[in-house]
Amino acid sequence: MSTTDLDKPRCHCAVFGVFGNPHAAQLTYYGLLAQQHRGQEGSGIVTAQFDPVAQKQRFHVHKDFGLVNDVYRDDRILSETLVGSMAIGHNRYSTAGSANNKTNIQPFTVLYKGGNIGIAHNGNLTNFKKIRQELQDEGTIFQTTCDTEIVLHLIARSRKTNQIEQIREALSRLQGAFSFVLLTDTALIAARDHHGFRPLAIGKKGNAFVVASETVAFDIIDAEYVRDVQPGEIVVIDQSSIDRGAVTSLRIDDRPATPHYCIFEYIYFSRPDSQIFGHSVDKVRRKLGKNLAKSRPVHPRAPNDKVIVINVPDSSNTATMGYVQATNKFGGNVKLEIGLIRSHYIGRTFIQPRQDVRENKVKTKFNVVKGVVKDKVVVIVDDSIVRGTTSKQLVQLIRQAGPKEVHFRITSPPIMYPCHYGMDFPTPKELIANQCGGDIEKIGKELGVDSIGYLSIDDLLDSAPQENGERYCTACFSGAYPVPIDAAQTKDENEA
Ligand code: SF4
Repeated sequence: MSTTDLDKPRCHCAVFGVFGNPHAAQLTYYGLLAQQHRGQEGSGIVTAQFDPVAQKQRFHVHKDFGLVNDVYRDDRILSETLVGSMAIGHNRYSTAGSANNKTNIQPFTVLYKGGNIGIAHNGNLTNFKKIRQELQDEGTIFQTTCDTEIVLHLIARSRKTNQIEQIREALSRLQGAFSFVLLTDTALIAARDHHGFRPLAIGKKGNAFVVASETVAFDIIDAEYVRDVQPGEIVVIDQSSIDRGAVTSLRIDDRPATPHYCIFEYIYFSRPDSQIFGHSVDKVRRKLGKNLAKSRPVHPRAPNDKVIVINVPDSSNTATMGYVQATNKFGGNVKLEIGLIRSHYIGRTFIQPRQDVRENKVKTKFNVVKGVVKDKVVVIVDDSIVRGTTSKQLVQLIRQAGPKEVHFRITSPPIMYPCHYGMDFPTPKELIANQCGGDIEKIGKELGVDSIGYLSIDDLLDSAPQENGERYCTACFSGAYPVPIDAAQTKDENEA
């Protein structure tokens, strides 16, 4: 989970918001820094401050391409430009087509009849092309190519007189995945779609309220995690919330919540030190490893074979520990080893689109501890395989060090289909599992391993918390999409 992960799905973003702290921009900076893994292409912060001369609120904006540390490198940006006690922020990852367009960096802001409003989004709206076309037909001019912008237009065009009602009306038209933070002249607003695909948590720091995609953003600023924004809920945080010590909770509309939390957040995307959908990612990830060990063990062929299990740093670290623990608990005899060393200093690689460039980057990212793997039966545990490029290269690197056997174990099912709810996967024909028609043995042959084992969808669901009636989206594995996708959008993605 970093700027250097080569062949993994990428999330479209992280959001953060704060209301009621004089250092709102600094808190947002730290909140975005802790969520850097969710988007590394650009970052933005918007703050609101009352201007006593003009007697009105002013919005202050700073955004740019780059990592959080680079975008706010000059201290004066946070201390002098981004003044005010309320803020929202965003880290962005985008698909290639819009990567060079600075106007696509969020948060977006407009001044309309209801005042200033800013918005930042994690997710993907599945009916945005239809709504955008409708708005364009009626004369709306768009400044970005991003789905999020339609929300501002829908709010601005609403005939409701109350701003919260304008926002509710706009959100009720949206389909797909959204975890939004919005900033108005008087409030911080957080909202989550009825399926709750992407996470969104509420925290408190003293009297101030904070909102973030992941709770790691609260830890870094010593804020306390209070609860998640519920699927289909709008949370309004304003001065009355500070006075009462409580947020105002509304429903987007009359539709009931129908949770389909993204299970990929547990497999790979979220940090293991986060609470996602109300549960510890670390705990779920360990269980993924344990269930994989139970269903896909590696047995030594000869009595003297030494079996070692190695992680692919850093994203499979936790699951690998679970795999080793469960293997040994159920009669196996395997040893956890650090066989792959990752360089943290190779810089950005995900924007390298060509296959040959990606392959070279694998060697610059990983090296093998040769003495550890030589003559051993090596079990590699990884969280997922997308194109297979990185996995194949890793297997080749490990084979060069002279192991007796190489086995691959993956703590997710084969990825067969694209995600339409906020993860950026390559086109289906680029997915190795799709290319191989779901034939696991064929995937193993492609990677050059002695055996390969994936977690089943049932074991995946068994690893995730279910005690409060949680339900999960598994569409990229099963093809069962909880929300229909606009035909126009699917066509574009297939052609991408
Ligand atoms: S399709 Fe996959 S990545 Fe997308 S929301 Fe569903 S589980 Fe998550």
